[in-house]
Amino acid sequence: MTGLDAPSLLVVEDEGRVARALQAGFEAEGYAVTVAMSGEAGFFEASTGLFDAIILDWMLPGRDGLEILRALRQKSVLAPVLVLTARDAVEDRVAGLDAGADDYLVKPFAFPELLARVRALLRRGRGDQLTRLTLADLVLDIPSRSVSRGGTPIELTSREFALLEYLVRHRGSLVSREMIARDVWKETERSTPLDNVIDVHIGRIRRKVDQGHSTRLIHTIRGIGFTARDTDE
Ligand code: CA
Repeated sequence: MTGLDAPSLLVVEDEGRVARALQAGFEAEGYAVTVAMSGEAGFFEASTGLFDAIILDWMLPGRDGLEILRALRQKSVLAPVLVLTARDAVEDRVAGLDAGADDYLVKPFAFPELLARVRALLRRGRGDQLTRLTLADLVLDIPSRSVSRGGTPIELTSREFALLEYLVRHRGSLVSREMIARDVWKETERSTPLDNVIDVHIGRIRRKVDQGHSTRLIHTIRGIGFTARDTDE
């Protein structure tokens, strides 16, 4: 990886020794590395949207890594984020993922493992740039924001399109109302009225996408949320 193809990484880490070691390690592998030594500096750098991936230390002075991450996701900064942390409890991992982390690595770690995780994130990141999403015979064309199923065009409002795109990008995974409120409606406060609005939109999408088809693609997981998949089990 050299020259113009060098992926750009942002490392947000307040411990100078660790930050320098990461920078040297990634640069030796051909990455372009920017280091931010505080959460605020990291937030500022990440907001430029210029990075292919972000390595974010959880424990930062001032606003910690998860606060920064939530703020970035609210600003629709979508670069994959790997959170570094000394915290290894299950609830910490869940908190990290809920805040919008794509991966999570516990300190101390071996650099080759971090490198492998970052490579995996970058591969996933490129996948996100695909212009066409499919699920069974459902096709979403991202640039034109058009949808068809079995070759028949489906008319969706822009919000319905965003919601369907979100479900299809998470195909096979459970999508909670909290995730939809945060990532599609960009709401941080979860409220019952918004839950109802989400349910109404899901109902409309389901009618437009699934009605008249033997295979349903939009499934409700009672009490939890929704999932998009092409099997009925
Ligand atoms: Ca730290």
